[in-house]
Amino acid sequence: MKTFACGDVIPGCSARFSAADEGGIFAQVAGHAAADHGVTDITPELVQAVRDRIVSI
Ligand SMILES: [Zn+2]
Repeated sequence: MKTFACGDVIPGCSARFSAADEGGIFAQVAGHAAADHGVTDITPELVQAVRDRIVSI
């Protein structure tokens, strides 16, 4: 399993995600970023920032 805390990238956000693999995390994060942060442009830099903070559990 992988887990990711949105607050590691966007301070103050308490959302956490877990999935079997990175793809599952990104699918959830993309929806959350658009719905809760108004972020619809998932840049390579953002992808990298998220990837760097995904933790295996
Ligand atoms: Zn968030």
